[in-house]
Amino acid sequence: MKQEANLRLILLGLPGSGKGTQADSLKKKYNIPHISTGNLLREAISKNTPLGKQAESYVQSGELVPDSLIINLVKEEMTRNHGARGFILDGFPRNLAQAEKLDIMLKELNLELSLAIEIKLNEEILIKRLTGRRTCSKCGALYNIYFNPPQVSDICDVCQGKLSRREDDNVQVVNNRIKVYWSNISPVIDYYQKNGILHIIDGNQEAPGVFADISQIIERL
Ligand SMILES: [Zn+2]
Repeated sequence: MKQEANLRLILLGLPGSGKGTQADSLKKKYNIPHISTGNLLREAISKNTPLGKQAESYVQSGELVPDSLIINLVKEEMTRNHGARGFILDGFPRNLAQAEKLDIMLKELNLELSLAIEIKLNEEILIKRLTGRRTCSKCGALYNIYFNPPQVSDICDVCQGKLSRREDDNVQVVNNRIKVYWSNISPVIDYYQKNGILHIIDGNQEAPGVFADISQIIERL
């Protein structure tokens, strides 16, 4: 990658694909901001900005925050300073409409995307990653009954506290989450494929392997 080039990339992948970890590593290595729409939303609401106030009314009534509002949050963040320095987008776009709106917005700012990276996992592994998660109710230590089990079942190695699982990590909920994700994200993946900026990374490896693969693609830009 040329020194002066600004990297503008999108990370796509299911919860459990390790997207957040990769975004953090990329942020450190390439010194570019990580824009998470979840964080933007929480920040706008807590700071009570005009967009935050709008968003809060949706969140409070349990409705989905509309695409246009999310786009405006991203735009606000990019015009602040980040657009010029590049960015890593994580958790956005979530559907084709958002992807198209993002391109329109970037065009207005005279910017374009460098890369869209899909971290692809074998679904069986993904389901085990999510449904196998256990947290110590006392010290917060993390386990996975398939990949990183405690020595004694359901008991924390560190403090002997009892391990618990999140309500929404059961198989049915996870399967449903995967289904919804795919129906929304498949058109986004096709869209970036057509634009010639999509790269698929094998997410079944450990995080450092995934990171090495992503870095290699970036270096070749
Ligand atoms: Zn513990």
